[in-house]
Amino acid sequence: MAAPTASPNSTAATPALADGCYTWGRVLSEGTTGEDVRQLQIRVSGYPGYGASIALDGQFGPATKAAVIRFQQAYGLTADGIAGAQTFNKIYALQDDDCTPVNFSYAELNHCNTTWAGGPLSAAAAKANALVVMWQLQALRHALGDRPIGVNSGFRSYSCNSAAGGSSTSRHLYGDAADLAAGTIGFCNLAKEARYHGFEEILGPGYPDHSDHTHVANKSSRFWSASQCGI
Ligand SMILES: [Zn+2]
Repeated sequence: MAAPTASPNSTAATPALADGCYTWGRVLSEGTTGEDVRQLQIRVSGYPGYGASIALDGQFGPATKAAVIRFQQAYGLTADGIAGAQTFNKIYALQDDDCTPVNFSYAELNHCNTTWAGGPLSAAAAKANALVVMWQLQALRHALGDRPIGVNSGFRSYSCNSAAGGSSTSRHLYGDAADLAAGTIGFCNLAKEARYHGFEEILGPGYPDHSDHTHVANKSSRFWSASQCGI
């Protein structure tokens, strides 16, 4: 997280700030491609709109533009869908030096081990999946009034998943799932709002074994079930 600096408008030149995690070196808009676009897509992955998700493909298309606009609107920035100084400075303010959003950490997304190993993916891939989940959770948290969201379980190795009684196909094995505590928000409010933040899997009260947490995860097809929440 870097100190904020005044930025006149979103199409200004390169942000003046250096950031401990990642520094963008150019303005990004529809049509641009590259690793810097992919890094932006990770940061706005919680802003795809209802029932949608953002492809992290390094190609700034219409869906990325729409996500950038939603991000800008969420933080009161000029909502033009162009990622320039104003947008990058907000992202810098929201991220820690390890690239996690300020209100979540790798440790919180992994109560199983410190290596991220022991699942079906490489440790690096599982950890990368968890990073995306954290940015989605940051968006969820902001949408719900910046109230704390606790994560009771994130990544699980095969052995941790067995110990937890998890399904053999659990997304927790892939690092892209999180079991959320009710906090002051409540399970149903979490489940309902999660539909707007890119989660293809949402399980909550009314779904078997989900009376005491709301589970959110990323996968290739949608499955939402929380009958006590009207989902
Ligand atoms: Zn779960």
